[in-house]
Amino acid sequence: MDERFDAIVVGSGPSGCAAAYVMAKGGLNVLMIDRGTVPGAKNIIGGVLYSKVLNDLFPNFWEEDCVERYIDRRIISFVTEDSAVSMDFKSGKFSQPPYNGFTVLRAKFDKWFVGKAEEAGAMFVPGMRVDDLLWEGDRVAGIKVGDEAMPADVVIAADGVNSLLAQKAKLRGELQAHHVATGVKEVIELPREVIEERFGLSGDEGMANEYTGWCTQGVAGGAFLYTNKESLSLGLVCNIADLRKSGKRPADMIEEFKQHPAIRNLVRGGKIAEYSAHLIPEGGLDMQPKLYTNGMMVVGDAAGFVSVTGLTLEGANFAIASGIAAAETVKLAKERGDYSAASLAHYESLLNQSFVLQDFKTYKGAPQFLENHRMYSLYPNLVASMAEGIFRVDGLPKKKVMKVMREALKKNKVSYLDLLKDGLQGARAI
Ligand SMILES: Cc1cc2nc3c(=O)[nH]c(=O)nc-3n(C[C@H](O)[C@H](O)[C@H](O)COP(=O)(O)OP(=O)(O)OC[C@H]3O[C@@H](n4cnc5c(N)ncnc54)[C@H](O)[C@@H]3O)c2cc1C
Repeated sequence: MDERFDAIVVGSGPSGCAAAYVMAKGGLNVLMIDRGTVPGAKNIIGGVLYSKVLNDLFPNFWEEDCVERYIDRRIISFVTEDSAVSMDFKSGKFSQPPYNGFTVLRAKFDKWFVGKAEEAGAMFVPGMRVDDLLWEGDRVAGIKVGDEAMPADVVIAADGVNSLLAQKAKLRGELQAHHVATGVKEVIELPREVIEERFGLSGDEGMANEYTGWCTQGVAGGAFLYTNKESLSLGLVCNIADLRKSGKRPADMIEEFKQHPAIRNLVRGGKIAEYSAHLIPEGGLDMQPKLYTNGMMVVGDAAGFVSVTGLTLEGANFAIASGIAAAETVKLAKERGDYSAASLAHYESLLNQSFVLQDFKTYKGAPQFLENHRMYSLYPNLVASMAEGIFRVDGLPKKKVMKVMREALKKNKVSYLDLLKDGLQGARAI
C-alpha cells in the first residue's frame, strides 16, 4: 500500500461503488475500502431500489441476477390494533423494462456492485476500518488505518450515516436523535410458490407494502413488507428521539406486528433467516453537512441523502447519483490538477442540477410534517372507523356516508381545525 492513489473511496455501499466504478472507468487509480469482511455484510435496505440511475450506469442491470423482484404493486396501509385500510396500486407500466424499482438483498447486490467497480479497475480492500484522515496543511490528503497512512489526491467519504470522516473533516457535528431513525428488518424465508400465491404474483413480479399507525405503537415511523424471490423483508422504521421517549423496543414491536391480523397470514410458516438493524438519516436538508472541503467530498447516507416523505423512502438511488456526481467532479479536478474546495464545489453544482438536491428542496417540509403524532394514531384510527362504519351490516338502519364520517371524527376526537391544519401542512410538505 505504498502507492499514491488518485482517489480513495471509504465505504462500498451503493454510493461508494458508484463513485469507484465511474472513476475507475475514467482511467483513475482508485482504492475502495470497507470495514466489512464481505460486501454488504452489515448493510440494510428495506428495500426498493429505484432503477433509473442504476440503469443509466448499467443498462438492463436486472438481467445480471443482482436484484430480487420488480415492483409493480404498491400498497399503503393505515393500521390500527386489529384492522388495516389500504390503498392498493398495481400498474402494468411498472411491469416492463425499464422497471420502476426492484427489491434487493444487500449481500447479493453489494457483491455485484463491488464486482463492477473491480472489473472497471478499482482496487477493493474489505475488512479494513479507516480510523482517520491524513492531512497536508488544511487539505485532506488521504486516510489513516491505525498508524498506516495512505495518500490520495482526493477522498470520497461513502462511509454511511455515522460518517466518521465527515466528522473528522469538521463537515458535520454529532447526529441529532430527531434527525435519525432506526430501521430493523427481518428476512423471512418462504418457498417461491407460497410467496407468489399469497401475494398474487407470478414470475418476477413483486409487491411493496408500507404501513403507518399501530405498527410503531405511537412512535413516529412506519413499517414495511416487501417480496423477494424466496423471502419477505419485514421491518420497522422508528424515529430515535421518539423511540427513546416511548421506552419501547423495535424488536418487541416487530414481533407484535407479526401477530397483526393483516400480517400474520402473510408471514405464516416463514423461517427468519436474518435480523438486522441500521440507522437512517431522515432529517432532510436540516441535517445535511457541508458536502466538500479541500481534498474530500461526502456522498450518500454520509451526506444525509435519504428522502422520507411518508409515502416513499429513497436512499439507495440518491447514494448512487451522489457517488456518480462526486466521481465526475474528481475526473474534472484531475484534468484541472486542482482538488481544492473551490474546484470540488462542482460536486454541489451537479447535485443542484439533478433530482438529488432538488428533491430535498421540494420536500423540505416533510421531516417536520412526519413529526406530527396524529399521523401515527389518530388518523389511522379515523380511517379504520370510517371503513368499519361503511362496511358493517348489523341489522340497524343504514347511515349515509357523510354521517358515518362525522361520527368517526367525533368518536376519534378529531377536530375539523386539526384536520384542516394537518391537511394543509401535508399538502405543503409533500
Ligand atoms: C431498514 C432500512 C430500510 C431502507 N429502505 C430503503 C428503500 O426501500 N429504498 C431505498 O432507496 N433506500 C432504503 N434505505 C436506505 C438505503 O439503504 C441507504 O440510503 C443506502 O444504503 C446508502 O448507501 P451508502 O453507500 O451511502 O451507505 P451504506 O450502504 O450505509 O454503506 C456504507 C459503507 O461504509 C462502510 N464503512 C463505514 N465506516 C467505515 C470505516 N470507518 N471504514 C471503512 N468502511 C466503513 C460500511 O461498512 C458500509 O459498507 C433503507 C435503509 C434501512 C436501514
